[in-house]
Amino acid sequence: MSAESELLDKIRDISRPVRIMHICGTHERTISKYSMRDVLPEEIEVLSGPGCPVCVTPEQEIDRAIALAESGVILTSFGDMMRVPGSNGSLMEARSRGADVRMVYSIDDAIAIAEKEPESKVVFFAIGFETTAPTNAAAVLRKPPGNFSLLLSHKLTIPAMNELIDEIEVDAFIAPGHVCTIIGIHPFDQFAEKGFPVIAAGFEADELLLSILMVLEQQRSGNHTVENAYPRAVKNEGNRRAQEMMEKVFEVIDSDWRGIGTIKDSGMKLRPEFAMYDAAVIYEDLINEKVKDISYENSASSLCRCAEILKGKEKPSDCPLFTKKCNPANPVGSCMVSQEGMCYNWYRYRGVEDA
Ligand code: SF4
Repeated sequence: MSAESELLDKIRDISRPVRIMHICGTHERTISKYSMRDVLPEEIEVLSGPGCPVCVTPEQEIDRAIALAESGVILTSFGDMMRVPGSNGSLMEARSRGADVRMVYSIDDAIAIAEKEPESKVVFFAIGFETTAPTNAAAVLRKPPGNFSLLLSHKLTIPAMNELIDEIEVDAFIAPGHVCTIIGIHPFDQFAEKGFPVIAAGFEADELLLSILMVLEQQRSGNHTVENAYPRAVKNEGNRRAQEMMEKVFEVIDSDWRGIGTIKDSGMKLRPEFAMYDAAVIYEDLINEKVKDISYENSASSLCRCAEILKGKEKPSDCPLFTKKCNPANPVGSCMVSQEGMCYNWYRYRGVEDA
């Protein structure tokens, strides 16, 4: 019998009604790829939270990146991010209009462009959670060339979870394994103290099933705590060196999340001593001038249900555009762009006909 079958048997034995939310695009990918929702008992509902970095980057921040790209800087970005719609198209569309937008695989690629083209201004659109932020902090500490800067749109996991527990019905959390490798498991203690089991989980199917079983066992025992189900990668205290670098380079600020709105203390900016690398400071007037007339009230994607999907309130199939006007080749909303997006994964793994 496979490890997955054994775990499923145990889950079925002690199954009880529970709504478990994960906060991780990679978890969603595994769950969708292996059709885990279809094999779990009906009483167990697995919700997808705002854990896909591309999905949660708001239109406003994409518009700011486009404003820079259309002002003559070289705007570098991860490939997925280039396809996410802002209020008036994506970075890819800005490139087709003549802006110099280049796909990179890392911040080091962007710095290499700046070194190779010293006459140009190069901006790296830095998105992602605690997982990617330390790499960007390390790059800043290495003192990149003066023609290089970062447009930051980092997000922090814990404040988003705090925002959600007041708004949605959820009983337990599966914590994102790669975020836990950086911040450890103790920042999640506050949720256990409020009665939510929290399990830090890896990304294989058996690791996710184990985390669901651990939630059920906590429910049965009534002892709600934070457990590390991913010890091969996660130390309980996290990666202290990465935490120190983030602390040194970034300060915490309120941040906008796509579909969710502003969440207190959920983002980061460069500390004033690194302002020479902060595109938001260097190009502040230029950006503000370009975006000042944009309204975000009636955007072209007003039918898009990403906002509700990112909060675990709806499924992709609840969206009237799903598989019709919106698909991976022609994404209307951010959740259909990335391999970590809920809509993308539903489209890819559930099949159009039974979506
Ligand atoms: S299917 Fe497309 S339009 Fe609908 S919620 Fe998903 S990303 Fe948005």
